Formats: sequence, structure tokens, C-alpha cells
Amino acid sequence: MKIAILGAGVSGLALARTLGERGFPLADLTLFEADGVVGGLCRSKSVDGFTYDVSGGHILFSKDRAVMQWMKDCAGGDEAFVQRERHTKIRFGNRFVHYPFENGLGDLPEQPKFECLQGYVQAWHLRDKYATQAPGDFKGWIRWRFGDGIARHFMDPYNEKIWKRPLEEISSAWVAGRVPDAPIDDVLKAAIGVRTEGYTHQSIFFYPRRGGFQAITDGIASSLRERIRLSTPATDLVRARDGGWRVNGEPFDRVVSTLPLNALPEVVREMPADVAEAMRGLAYNSIATLLVALDRPAHPDLSWIYLPHHEQGPVNRVTYMSNYSPELAPAGKTSFLCEVTFPGGAPAPGPELEREAIAGIEGAGLLRREEILFVDRSVCRYAYIVYDHQLFARRGVALEWCATNGVVPLGRFGRYDYFNSDQCVIAARGVAEELLDRARVG
Ligand SMILES: Cc1cc2nc3c(=O)[nH]c(=O)nc-3n(C[C@H](O)[C@H](O)[C@H](O)COP(=O)(O)OP(=O)(O)OC[C@H]3O[C@@H](n4cnc5c(N)ncnc54)[C@H](O)[C@@H]3O)c2cc1C
Repeated sequence: MKIAILGAGVSGLALARTLGERGFPLADLTLFEADGVVGGLCRSKSVDGFTYDVSGGHILFSKDRAVMQWMKDCAGGDEAFVQRERHTKIRFGNRFVHYPFENGLGDLPEQPKFECLQGYVQAWHLRDKYATQAPGDFKGWIRWRFGDGIARHFMDPYNEKIWKRPLEEISSAWVAGRVPDAPIDDVLKAAIGVRTEGYTHQSIFFYPRRGGFQAITDGIASSLRERIRLSTPATDLVRARDGGWRVNGEPFDRVVSTLPLNALPEVVREMPADVAEAMRGLAYNSIATLLVALDRPAHPDLSWIYLPHHEQGPVNRVTYMSNYSPELAPAGKTSFLCEVTFPGGAPAPGPELEREAIAGIEGAGLLRREEILFVDRSVCRYAYIVYDHQLFARRGVALEWCATNGVVPLGRFGRYDYFNSDQCVIAARGVAEELLDRARVG
């Protein structure tokens, strides 16, 4: 059975490597990768001794310990990683507020603290007494869940920065299991100054000692080099009479696609118009990242900071990149990584981005302009899945077409699932099992 894997991000690579480890002949696998390097969203970049993750700061953590260990082992084992405690804050005026916000109300000035607490208690009371249903739109959900004060002081402005559209247009379905649900006692204690932790998932994380997060995908790819065709986009997919596919003219029995579903209509010949329309309509946001190289010998012990407010500029998150590993900056220097989203399909922000971003984080008191050595910029087109109200219907049409046409969709944008890299690996292992079963039967 000959298998084509479209895309050599972590999903495609993990699938190929797992198949190889479980006895599938590597000679029957071909990975098509449009880019000149592997890694996709996990790529990192080095400039003058400073390394950063091009699609935003990445950390390695997983609820699946075996998968996380596999990812580490592919990239040199435990010694090749540093372990870090996650120290995350929200910048609020000139204060640092504990994250998650509702567990940090005690860090706020008096008036916002009162408004946030009052709203939180009211919202809790309404849910508790009247068992009100969660609203279907994200804006309503925020109020239902957190109350007016937290909505106004944090959730609304922060989410408007990330999603770049009215929050009414976003479904609340995506938040299930993603936004921590703090017990009311913890929120009350936090408000009167008794520290409560809240969200403890990812409290410990790992990061490659050298090479940025890309060291993981480089490691996974290391045993597959001959099977990966770099700078070779899949441009033409044609269904063959025997049920297989021709990819760029070459015959394969199975195709696994990690390409964004949005891009499939551009490469598949003769896709029904309604399916193509559903795929193209799937909403996403892009990201621009700015590495800020600093002439600063040490950072405070922070992992990243959220900047929720519009007056803090366009950046929604600043990662203290060089804190992840000392190898990410030259000795005696440090770095920040700033993230700015923009709507998918829109042109990337122009040179004003750098000016506005630096002014914002300077105004937030995170750096002094004299410390900046240089700024380097990257852009990733497919970064965030946007859960608008049409997503589930459109994705349903897209995945149904894949299922009936023998294309196996895999990966964050390949299936339109809000996956981190470990979840991509878990999904790839599932697909590997299915393909191995099929190969045995075939
Ligand atoms: C801001 C941000 C922060 C994140 N933080 C974390 C984190 O802390 N930890 C974590 O584990 N995960 C994190 N993630 C998620 C993680 O980056 C993704 O889950 C993962 O990288 C997705 O991998 P993938 O292989 O599914 O897709 P991709 O990485 O998108 O790979 C798809 C590949 O297909 C290639 N391709 C596209 N078109 C074609 C074509 N026509 N032919 C051939 N190849 C093509 C692309 O070049 C790419 O290499 C984060 C993501 C973002 C955006």
C-alpha cells in the first residue's frame, strides 16, 4: 500500500514515524512538504544567536505522558530538554495580575476589583439559583460565566484582540474544557488576598534546550529524511478509478492530508462546488510574531504575559522567550516574543506593526527602548481556528467529503480541531493504527 502524506508539520511527521516504528515499509511512504523545511507551525528561527518560535511561543506539555516522552525521545531524550515552571501573569495598568484572572482579583485596584467580584458573584448566583443555560454566543457566554466586571476589564478586550471580530459572531462551543472553571470559594479567597492557584494544567512544561521548539519536529523527521520531499507542494490531486489518488501525477493507494481544509479545493480536481464552498468558508486567524532581541542580562522569572487592553497596543501576548532555555539568546542577552493576530485572508500588518507593538509594550512597562538590539518578524497564515457559528456545519461537510473520497484528514487545520502538538501526535497514532489495519487486510 503506497501512502502519500501531505504536509510535514508535526502531524504528518508523527504519522510517518509511527508507521515506520510499527513495521510499515518506509519506502512506501512519501511526504510532500511545500516549505523548504519541516515543522509547519512548530518551526523556529535563529537570527544572530537569538532563536524564537515563528508562530508564537510553544511549550511541550501533555496529559498523555507516553506521547510527551515519545516526542522528547525523538528529539534526544530528557537531557535535550529543560523543565520549567509556568509563571504567567496578566498586565493590568502597571500591575501584574495572577493568571487566571478570576483567581487574581486581589491584585486589582479597588474599583475594578469590586466590579469584577460583584459581577462574578451575580453570575454565579444566577446559574446556581435558576440553572440558566450557557448562551450559544461567546459574548453572552462570558457574561453568563464571569459576569459584567470581568467581561469589561479582561475577557472582552482580550478576546477582541485575539479574535479580531465581534464576540457575538463566535460560538461558545469552543470554550468547553478550555476555559478553567474556578470554584467560587477560590475566587472569593483570591479577592481578599488569599492566593488560590486556579488553573494548574501546564504548571510544569518542557522545552528543547537547543534549536527552539522545532528541535522536536527535526527530531521526529530525522529518521525520515529520504521520504520527505521539501519545497514540493501537492498541487494536483486526482481520484483514480481504482479508488486511490494521483498526487502531482504519482499514484497512491491512500492520501493523508494535513493541509488546511481551506486549501483542499485549490488542489483537488473536480470537487463539488458546495463542498469547496464549505471548505473555503472555514474561518481562521493568522499571526505575526516579533522577536525583540534585548541587551538585558536577565528577565524576571516569567513565562509569558497577557496584554488584554487596547491601550497596550496590538500585542496580545509577550513570551519571555529566552527564559525557556538559556540557549535561545547569546550570553548576557535576553528576548521577548510578541504575538499579534490578524484575520485570515487579510493582508499582514505593514511596518507600522513593529512601531505600535514596541510602543504598546513600552507603555505597559515591559521594556525600555534603549534595550532593543533588533526586531525580527515572521508571519504564519493559518494560526487560530475561529469557531464562528458556521464552523460545525462547514467542517461536517468537509470531513464527510474526505470520508467518502478516501482522503484521511489529520492535524490542527487538517481537521479543524483546536489541537496542540501533542494532540496532533495522539491523532497521528490513531490514523497510523487504521492504516496498518488496512494494510494488513489489503
Ligand atoms: C500561537 C500558537 C501557539 C501555540 N502554542 C503551542 C504550545 O505551546 N504547545 C503545543 O504543543 N502546540 C502549540 N500550538 C499548536 C501547534 O503549533 C499545532 O498544533 C501544530 O504545530 C500543528 O501541526 P500540523 O502538522 O497539524 O499542522 P502544520 O504545522 O500547519 O503543518 C501543515 C504542513 O503542511 C504544509 N503544506 C501546506 N500546504 C501544502 C501543500 N499544498 N503541499 C504540501 N505541504 C503543504 C505546511 O507547510 C506545513 O508544514 C500553538 C499554535 C499557535 C498558532
